[in-house]
Amino acid sequence: VTSWQGMHITVAGLGVSGISAARALAGFGASVVVVDGGDSEALREKAAALESSLEGVRVRLGDGDTLPEGTELIVTSPGWKPTSPLFAAAAEAGVDVVGDVEIAWRLRGPDSAPWLGVTGTNGKTTTTQMLASILRAAGLRTAAVGNIGTPIIDIVLGDEPYDVLAVELSSYQLHWAPSLRAHSAAVLNLAPDHLDWHGSMEAYARDKGRIYEGNRVACVYNVADKATEDLVRDADVEEGCRAVGFTLGTPGPSQLGVVEGILVDRAFVENRQKNAQELAEVADVNPPAPHNIANALAAAALARAFGVPAAAVRDGLRAFRPDAHRIEHVADVAGVAYVDDSKATNTHAAEASLAAYESIVWIAGGLAKGATFDELVAKSAKRLRGVVLIGADRGLIREALARHAPEVPVVDLDRTDTGAMPAAVREARALARAGDTVLLAPACASMDMFVNYNKRGDAFAEAVRELASADG
Ligand code: ADP
Repeated sequence: VTSWQGMHITVAGLGVSGISAARALAGFGASVVVVDGGDSEALREKAAALESSLEGVRVRLGDGDTLPEGTELIVTSPGWKPTSPLFAAAAEAGVDVVGDVEIAWRLRGPDSAPWLGVTGTNGKTTTTQMLASILRAAGLRTAAVGNIGTPIIDIVLGDEPYDVLAVELSSYQLHWAPSLRAHSAAVLNLAPDHLDWHGSMEAYARDKGRIYEGNRVACVYNVADKATEDLVRDADVEEGCRAVGFTLGTPGPSQLGVVEGILVDRAFVENRQKNAQELAEVADVNPPAPHNIANALAAAALARAFGVPAAAVRDGLRAFRPDAHRIEHVADVAGVAYVDDSKATNTHAAEASLAAYESIVWIAGGLAKGATFDELVAKSAKRLRGVVLIGADRGLIREALARHAPEVPVVDLDRTDTGAMPAAVREARALARAGDTVLLAPACASMDMFVNYNKRGDAFAEAVRELASADG
């Protein structure tokens, strides 16, 4: 148990999680300095509001690099890279660095709800929300938290009582949460992403694998992604904790899987004749694309590890609605479906959504974040009716298309202004035939053209609706 009274804590970053941490720690009697390298009008207003609302919190703007005198612990925001000068100074001074998740874990009360953790390169938010929906269907008081919604410190310290929490954990949050111990946890998949932050694929995988450390009941892994199983093997877990796999095929021992359109666990396969219970049907999963069935199985595995009955899995999956911009059907125009997967901000995510359709006009491009596109294009080539490219790094995708799909027509819009999106939708319409899907799955980040992926998806949907109304 940490004694926070009078402790000198530096919070790195005046963002949502930084403010939440500063408030909570000051509330426990710590003396907090929030540092931020920025010094804008907006930051100054936030700083003034924070300082005047709480004793024991000071804000230092315009310098995020030097370690404040007397610092005993640093609480960092997820965006700060491990290579930040502030952390180098901390290491030199022997000061620990932790994140908001670690603080939430340490501040939670003795009777607080257990955590079911979810991480992975893609599908975290969806799976965490599916899990919360299943737990709710079982009558449990729960919330989907962590990398989503209300800061986790506020949830843990709030008045609302919970039986269990569905916690989405990013690789950054796991990196800075050394003492976190989940009831059970899942790693959905592992593909290169955020390597600039972690330094290497090995370091990224190691941080993801931290989610299994100390698990009490189940470590859930993806049978099709051996790297996730390796992480389970390397983890130090409580005695009796089981490895549970999920697969889109027939499940083996200690696995969940799919048999003839039904989501089942191993017991179903073994006791079929005895009327063993199924968990849900593929049609209960929303949308029923392969990657999303995998997400549903992972959520089901965690819920089952917590003791939830099979019927709640089905009810919870049926009640679940995905967040916007995640394979969201916008409209059908002239027999062509328009689908917004703006959230496909890396190649692994785009590959999943391209795999969900047969004949696609693909709108792609944006900021590549150091990615290569050869594998994605080679795997998806046969499904492509045509491609429309937008955004800063579209040349990388164009070159991959020339190498692996030379026969697919490509329209390179060569523009990064916001008007590029309606133009892209018009070009896509011209390429599409009845029965095709026009799919926005950029495989890139959005910040070259838009504030974020939400705005990019909104621009797409608006352009599609214009098309639909012009079509009468
Ligand atoms: P995260 O929270 O990990 O970013 P989301 O649930 O928000 O993940 O989904 C992000 C995008 O990743 C989706 O729009 C979809 O394109 C893709 N995706 C979702 N689940 C998976 C999965 N299991 N495997 C691969 N891609 C996925």
